[in-house]
Amino acid sequence: MPPLLDVASALEIVVRTAHRLPEEVVPLGDVLGRVLARDVVSRVASPPFDKALMDGYAVRAEDLDSPEYQGGSSNVASLKVVGTVYAGQVPDRGVEAGEAVQIMTGAPLPVGTTAVVKVESTTRDGDMVLVHELVRAGANLIRQGAVMQPGDSALAAGTLLMPQQLAGLAELGVTSVAVRRRPRVAILATGDELVPPDQTPGPGQIRNTNATLLAGQARLAGCEVHPLGIARDTLGELAPRIVEGLKCDLLLLTGGVSAGLLDLVPQALASAGVQQVFHNVDMKPGKPVWFGLRPGAEPCLVFGLPGNPVSSMVCFELFVKTAIRQLLGIAPAVVPPLTAMAAVDETYTSDRPTFHPALIEFHSPSAIARTIPWQGSSDLKATLSANGMIYFPPSTQPVKQGDPMIVHKWN
Ligand code: AMP
Ligand code: MG
Repeated sequence: MPPLLDVASALEIVVRTAHRLPEEVVPLGDVLGRVLARDVVSRVASPPFDKALMDGYAVRAEDLDSPEYQGGSSNVASLKVVGTVYAGQVPDRGVEAGEAVQIMTGAPLPVGTTAVVKVESTTRDGDMVLVHELVRAGANLIRQGAVMQPGDSALAAGTLLMPQQLAGLAELGVTSVAVRRRPRVAILATGDELVPPDQTPGPGQIRNTNATLLAGQARLAGCEVHPLGIARDTLGELAPRIVEGLKCDLLLLTGGVSAGLLDLVPQALASAGVQQVFHNVDMKPGKPVWFGLRPGAEPCLVFGLPGNPVSSMVCFELFVKTAIRQLLGIAPAVVPPLTAMAAVDETYTSDRPTFHPALIEFHSPSAIARTIPWQGSSDLKATLSANGMIYFPPSTQPVKQGDPMIVHKWN
């Protein structure tokens, strides 16, 4: 028996095999959660003009400690108020020596302003203002272009667009955005024993959980889901659904990839022109995972995920998510794992690399994680109180409280 493919090598193969999806132009209001297809270079300066960051008075900082403008007691300057400027207005005059202009947050600075004194540090007395605070040049103002200049790089291709990136695009005046097409993912559950969730299973039957699971994972990863229902374990039922699924960018099947007599998925995929890239990876759960490619102008990546729900889930998190990120151009395609300290002594050990359902919490000074009691790959319930998984390398030594561990957060 040749040695089993290890997880890291399998992930590399997925990255190498996956193509890049075409781009499309989408209005700014619809690009939340999409992935930028091109770098965005700023055409504007930010801020676009010198402006006040506080409500107060625009002054020349050097006047504040000048004996010429002393306001009676020490550290108080008395300045002549020569105007007011509101946000959205343009000042009609500058600030000369001994003068102040009342100014609102966001208003353009009058020429000559070197500082803004906040209103709380002043007392108004007719057309004079008493300034009780000695502020330095540059206080409470920002200069044009201090944040960004025209030509500066604003966002890089491959960026996942979250609200703050949308706001950044809005500031630049970018109202239509080149993003990667959403991956279209077909999901096919296979198994003679499966019934849909709304049916009561008969003897020997179980409800199809994986279609719901994988659809949720795919949606969270930014995909458009095409459910293909349940296929019985016959080539006759598998073939037409596989043909349908191959019209998508990704086809996910669950079940039928192990060593059972009715595990017909690899054979059915081969008949449909899908080339096997790998089958079986050294991991627990998920060892029978199958990966292939239907090449062509519109290629389709195909994953045969083992039927046990936790196996399907773990294989999605590792392999399918990597494929999706590569299709979308997110770098790095392989989500880097995190490090967390063991919250308690762990008893789990195995001679196989294991991804164990776990609760990961972000505490100071470091993330901590603990396993959730788990009966193995069919135990979906363990995942209900988990938010990730701990990677246990093959070992005979149990992990002690405080030991660093490799963890993968889900979603
Ligand atoms: P298989 O990979 O087809 O050998 O299935 C392995 C185990 O997972 C069996 O106990 C199946 O009944 C179960 N299983 C397969 N597909 C599903 C599914 N879609 N939902 C829930 N359990 C499944
Ligand atoms: Mg089966």
